Amino acid sequence: MPNLPSQKICKQCGESKPISDYFIDRKGYATPYCDICKKAKGRAYHAANRDRLNAVSCKWQRENPEKAREQSRRYYSRNRQVINQRDRLKRQVDPDYNASRCREWRLKNPEQDRDVQSRYRQTHLELVRVADSRRASRRRGAVGTYTAAQWEALKASFDYRCLLCGKGEPEIRLTVDHIVPVSRGGSNNIDNLQPLCRSCNSHKYAKIIDLR
Ligand SMILES: [Zn+2]
Ligand SMILES: [Zn+2]
Repeated sequence: MPNLPSQKICKQCGESKPISDYFIDRKGYATPYCDICKKAKGRAYHAANRDRLNAVSCKWQRENPEKAREQSRRYYSRNRQVINQRDRLKRQVDPDYNASRCREWRLKNPEQDRDVQSRYRQTHLELVRVADSRRASRRRGAVGTYTAAQWEALKASFDYRCLLCGKGEPEIRLTVDHIVPVSRGGSNNIDNLQPLCRSCNSHKYAKIIDLR
């Protein structure tokens, strides 16, 4: 181990500073630049090489998804307050900040986006089915809406059975049937819905049959 002086002149700023202001490497040598200058140099280097460095780290993240997730979890838990505060400020300036950031991310990472979506669909099967069905009716022009919890409660009130054939889940899968069909101006509100199995639902066509 080399003997370290108690003071050292920084090669960058030229100031004489106590040795505790320098990074000491594994072999016991102090870096030529003081901590403040070293940090500034690192920042300048990163700014000058941003695109290349980002590309390298994106590649690493793609190749080591587990490690990358762990790393970002650790980073977030260490910097939770700063990150939340920063996001809050950005949302104040631009209320659409989150949505636009997500959109940007999805456009840049189409493959990961597909992975995330398919993982979500697997773990939130019922929520996704309700959302899909709601979206389909809205696209066909239905007004009104219902929540996954309301739909669940409605199914439960009929003992999870199809109101036409009487078969129950999980033997069949219950689907949303609009009592007054959307094509005839029926709404998407819970009071216009009844659970039918897929087969009964598709044989009902656009007849109005209120089985409730
Ligand atoms: Zn310095
Ligand atoms: Zn049925």
